[in-house]
Formats: sequence, structure tokens, C-alpha cells
Amino acid sequence: MQKLSILADAAKYDVSCASSGVNRGGVRGSLGNSVQGGICHSFTSDGRCISLLKVLYTNYCTYDCAYCINRKSNDVPRASFTPEELCELTYNFYLRNFIEGLFLSSAVIKSPDYTTELMYRTVFLLRSKYKFNGYIHVKAIPGTDPALLERLGAIVDRMSVNIELPSEASLKLLAPDKKKDDIVAPMKLIKNKIIEYKDTARHLRGAPKFVPGGQSTQMIIGASGDTDLRILSLTEAMYRKYDLKRVYFSAYVPVNTHPLLPSVLTAPPMLREHRLYQADFLLRFYEFRADEILNEANPNFSRHIDPKCQWALLHLDQFPIEVNRAPYNKLLRIPGIGQISAKRIIQARRHGSLSLDDLAKLGAVVKRARFFVTCSGRYDPALKFDEQSIFTGLLQASDVPDAQLSFFNASSPVLALREAAI
Ligand code: SF4
Repeated sequence: MQKLSILADAAKYDVSCASSGVNRGGVRGSLGNSVQGGICHSFTSDGRCISLLKVLYTNYCTYDCAYCINRKSNDVPRASFTPEELCELTYNFYLRNFIEGLFLSSAVIKSPDYTTELMYRTVFLLRSKYKFNGYIHVKAIPGTDPALLERLGAIVDRMSVNIELPSEASLKLLAPDKKKDDIVAPMKLIKNKIIEYKDTARHLRGAPKFVPGGQSTQMIIGASGDTDLRILSLTEAMYRKYDLKRVYFSAYVPVNTHPLLPSVLTAPPMLREHRLYQADFLLRFYEFRADEILNEANPNFSRHIDPKCQWALLHLDQFPIEVNRAPYNKLLRIPGIGQISAKRIIQARRHGSLSLDDLAKLGAVVKRARFFVTCSGRYDPALKFDEQSIFTGLLQASDVPDAQLSFFNASSPVLALREAAI
């Protein structure tokens, strides 16, 4: 119990543990299954996902990353499981219905290879001796031998490699033991092996799978001076290059003192993390590019309005959009209109012209959409179509409590957006 409390606590800062994407039924003689759409998700009071049995194998670390509670220079209680102990724990928790899977990460004990070998032994035992067929997500340690990673990838459902910080410069400053190439290499390997194994499966029935749930990564937000533009551009590049399922953002929790880090009294930048998730959604589902959402002149998100509203306000030349004629991809660009409401609008307008009231009935968030649309050529007569008025209206519709205050200090809404950058 002592080990569990130390190693589960040490793992709580890692947020890349979502478990969706793998569907595997039970097998006679085996224990457990994995259900697509997520297993055993729960959330702590600050909104972090703590699904699965989420533990570190060990928190003894040979590295000294400035932002990490487990860095070797910290005087914290240390512990390490043995493969058998961790298997027993997972197996018994599963039997008691506490968990449906395992999220296993680790600090770097001795070397990346040594650590990964221990994690491999644990997962191998779980799969073979304990016949555990449930979901397993393992963290790949940068710098591990590719052959060892391939063996591990063949028996787990998901792997993730933490990119940690948004730039090589921040990595050098805050995590000098980690090299960008060592982080990128396992990402490439996982991507290539997934393709290779899928290809084999096409020709050979029953061929083994490699990381069927794909790979993800996590980036710490707010520990370095990187802008949101830098973070979002890197996110976009990683989705494209490594075919990641998800990029998770983790607001830096100030646990250490270090001259290059925010003070330990600083609150974690949760709103910034939230804005990045909203923008990530625009990249993945709304066909936005990172350099459209932010640019060098506006490199950070507003804390007052969401990224889609911010983009729309900075591109008023593309609005208002006529909802009764606009194609699907144009409707998707309107703040307050999502994928489902856009599809409903296209269906509904076949039967007659739509009004603002109709948009509300179709699921659009009219308190935002009304600023950016015309219905049958008519702009809402209660509104003025100019930057200042729209910004004021959006602030009034915003749920960020102090939104109004900052606005009235700014001479122009666009300036307010820039000044409000986090
Ligand atoms: S490698 Fe760095 S981030 Fe990972 S546990 Fe060790 S000190 Fe922490």
C-alpha cells in the first residue's frame, strides 16, 4: 500500500491516459476485455483524467528535469515495484472491479533500456501468467533500444512518448538529460511499426497487432516561455508526421523551485490548457490550420473568448456567412455552429429558409453564431457588424467572469485580444 500510494501519487501529473480506441472482446481462458469508447474514465477535482490503474513502475530517477517532482535532486519518498507486485495489484484490482486496465509509466531507473525491460517483464507476465486481456497503455521511455520498444509494442494497446516541452530550447533548459531526437525516434518507430503490422495483417489472417490503440503524447504548458502558436504548430506537425491519436496538454503544476520556472505560488494555467484543447479540436475536426488560428502578430489565445471566436473576429472579412446557402465547410467556420448543427442546417434548409430561431432549434449556439451570420440576407437588426460591437457582444456571452473588465481598458477589440494573451 505504501508503494502504491507513492507511485500512484507520482503518476498523477501525467494526463495522456485516455483509453479509448481499442475494441477487444473477452477470450475463453483469459481475463478482461477492452471496450472501444473508453474504459473506467474518472476525473479528479481539477479535471484531470485518472482512469485505469495509473502508476509509475518506479519514481527513482537518474534524470533531473526541472519541472518534475520525481527529479533526482528532490527529496521525496521513493519506491519501486517488482513485476510480480505490479501484476498482482492489477489482477486483484481488476477482479474487484476497481479498474479495467493499466496505465504504466516510469521514471528512468539506471537507463532507458533497463527501465523498459522491467516494464516489458511486467506486461509480459500480466499477459502470459495472469492471462490479463484488458487494456494496457505504456509510456515509451525516450532513448530505449528500438528492438525492445518493438517487443513492448506487440503486447500493449497504446503507447505514448511524452514530448514534454514545446521547443528544443525549453528542453535544453529544463530537461537537459532529454534530447529531441531521442523523443522523436520512438514516435517514428511506433508509427512505422503500426503501418508494417497492419500491412502484414492484410495478407496474413490472425497476424499479431502492434499498438492497436495508436500512440499519444503529452506537453507541459506554462513551464517555459513558449507561445500558444508554437505549441499549436508543434501539435499540428505531430498529428501529421506521427499519426498521433491525441496530443494532451498538461497545465504546469508548480511543484519545484527553479530559477527558470514559474513560482511555486503560481496557479496552474488551466484556462490556457482549456484553450489549447479547444484549438486542438479545431485542428482535428474543423479543418483549421494552426497558422490560421494564430500568427506571429497574435501568438496567444485570448482568455476571454474561445479560439474560434478569436479567429472569426480577426477575419471579419469572411463574415457574415449566409446560413441558407453556405457549404458545409463554411458553416463549420461559424462560431457557435458545430459539426452536428452544420449537418442539421444543410438538411433543414432543403425545406425552407432558416431564421436565427431555427438555428437555435437545430442545436447552434446562437448567442455566438448571431454575430457572424445572415439569414436570407438579413443580419440581426439588434446588432452592429463591426469589430468593437461584436467583441463586446461576445464578451457579454462569454462565461469567463472578468471578461468585461479587461475589454473596457483596451482601445480596440483586436488590441484587447493581443493584450489578453496569456
Ligand atoms: S525523466 Fe524527468 S520527467 Fe521523467 S520522472 Fe525523471 S525527472 Fe521526471
